[in-house]
Amino acid sequence: MIDAGTWSAPGRVNLIGDHTDYNGGFALPCALPRRTTVVARRRDDGLLRARSTGATEPLEVLLPGARGEVGGWGAYVAGVAWSLAEAGVAVPGADLEISSDVPLGAGLSSSHSLECAVALALTGLAEVEVRVPALARIVQRAENEYVGAPTGLLDQTASLASVADHLTFIDARAETARPVPCDLAAAGLELLVVDTRAAHALTDGAYGSRRDACERAAGRLGLGTLRELTDDLDVDGALARLGELDDDPEAVRRARHVITENARVLQVVELVGSGLLREVGPVLSASHASMRDDFENSVPEVDLAVETAVGAGALGARMTGGGFGGSVVALVDAALVPAVQAAVRAAYADASLAEPGFLTVVPARGAGRDA
Ligand code: ADP
Ligand code: MG
Repeated sequence: MIDAGTWSAPGRVNLIGDHTDYNGGFALPCALPRRTTVVARRRDDGLLRARSTGATEPLEVLLPGARGEVGGWGAYVAGVAWSLAEAGVAVPGADLEISSDVPLGAGLSSSHSLECAVALALTGLAEVEVRVPALARIVQRAENEYVGAPTGLLDQTASLASVADHLTFIDARAETARPVPCDLAAAGLELLVVDTRAAHALTDGAYGSRRDACERAAGRLGLGTLRELTDDLDVDGALARLGELDDDPEAVRRARHVITENARVLQVVELVGSGLLREVGPVLSASHASMRDDFENSVPEVDLAVETAVGAGALGARMTGGGFGGSVVALVDAALVPAVQAAVRAAYADASLAEPGFLTVVPARGAGRDA
C-alpha cells in the first residue's frame, strides 16, 4: 500500500469502428489530449470519498458497497470500486480529488476516462497491478452492471492502452489492442473533432435496442457474435447470409452496418499502415452513411456537421462513439481546418442550433500514473 498519488486517463475519439465492439469486432480509436485526473490519498476506515470539479455533490460510500447503491456521477466511481472487489481485487478506502477537461456527455468518453483514472488510482494505492484486458473488463462491468449502460470494451481499452502518436487497433473478441503509428502532421492532416452538443437523452434505450438486434441476428444465424461472419466469409458472402433474416429487416440493417464497419476498420488499418492517410477520408464518410442509414443512430444535427465538413473540404467525416448525438470526427488538410470550422459554425447558426465545440486531436498517451 502507498499513501497517495496522482493518476490520469484520457477520453478517446474513435476514428472508425462503432457498435462493433460488443459484436466481437474491430475498432480504431486514439486517446484524446483531454484527461481526467485523480489525486488520491489512502484512508484506513474503508470509506471511499470523492469530489469532482465536474459535479456539485460529493460521493461517500463504504467499500465494497452494493451494486446500484449510488446513482448519478458517483456511480462511475463507486461502480469501479465495486467491480474491483467483485473481481477479487482488494482496494483501500480513499479520498479522491477529481478534475477533468474531457467534455462531458459529448461522445468522447468522459465516463471511461473517469472510470479508468479511478481504477488506476485505487489499484495504484493498493500497489496491485491489473493489466489490460482484465482491467478493461472490470471497468466494463462497472459501467454495464453498476451504471447500467450496456457498452462494450472499446472506450476503456482505448483509454487504458493507447500510445501517443498512434491509433489503437482493437480486436474486441481477442481482447487485444495494437498501436498503429499514425503521423498525421507529416501528411499535412489533422483530426478535427466537432462536439455537436446534440443531447442524447434516448441513448440508453436506443443503444440497448441496437445491441439486441445485433444479438438477435447473430443468434438466428447460429453464431456467437456477428464477428464470426468476418472470419469465414468475405464481405459479400457475409452480406449474402443476411438473406436468411429477410423477415426481420431491422436485424438485417443493423447486422449490415456491423459487417461493413468491421471491413472498413481493417481497410483503414491497411491504409494507415501503407501511409495512404488521405485515402482514409472516404472510408470515414462511408462509415457515417452506414450508421445513418443502416444502424440509424445518427441525428440531423450530426448529419449536418458531417455534410458541412465534407462540403467545406474535409477528406471525410463521421459520427464517433455510441451516437444519437455527440461528436463528429473529420479528417482535414491542416490548412483547411479554419474554413471547415467556420462552415460548420455558420451552418449551425443558420439552423438555429447551439454553437458547436471544436478540438484538433493529436493522438495522446493512454492512462497512467502522473505523480
Ligand atoms: P461520455 O462518456 O460520452 O462523455 P456518458 O453519458 O457516458 O458520456 O458519461 C457522462 C457522465 O459521466 C456525466 O454525466 C457524469 O455523470 C459522468 N462524468 C464523466 N466525467 C466526470 C467528471 N469529471 N466528474 C463527474 N462526473 C463525470
Ligand atoms: Mg461514456
